[in-house]
Amino acid sequence: MRQERYSNVLEGEDLYKEIIVDHSQSPRNQGTLEKPTHRHHGYNPLCGDEIELQLKVNDGCIEQVVFEGSGCAISQASASMLTQQLKGMTTEEATTLIGTFKTWMKDRQAEECPESLGDIEALAGVRSYPVRVKCALLAWTTLEHALAGPSSG
Ligand code: ZN
Repeated sequence: MRQERYSNVLEGEDLYKEIIVDHSQSPRNQGTLEKPTHRHHGYNPLCGDEIELQLKVNDGCIEQVVFEGSGCAISQASASMLTQQLKGMTTEEATTLIGTFKTWMKDRQAEECPESLGDIEALAGVRSYPVRVKCALLAWTTLEHALAGPSSG
């Protein structure tokens, strides 16, 4: 049933790998925190995707990360996979990961996915669709803003 619902999407079969469909339908780390140390609301006007990302950082380490959002499958799956990858990382490692992801997203020729991205490799097909790259990047730019926010420490 899942397959049927998504096979109608014009952009092609490569875009909606099973893992993306799974994350978009059952996003991990959904919710809000009572006292986030960092938060940011991201919006992608091209597609209407929204993500509210909240983190609890303690001593430079990301202890909790949750998000709430709405929008297309790519944007929500990307956010879900990102939060999974972030837990237990230092903010420095997270910043490095953001850089790695952005570079990889923009390099359509790169066959190999950087190992540090883990399951996020499922987004490889998105790189062929510049408009959808914005969807995939939303969670990451939102994280960038959140980490740069004034309430650090
Ligand atoms: Zn989107």
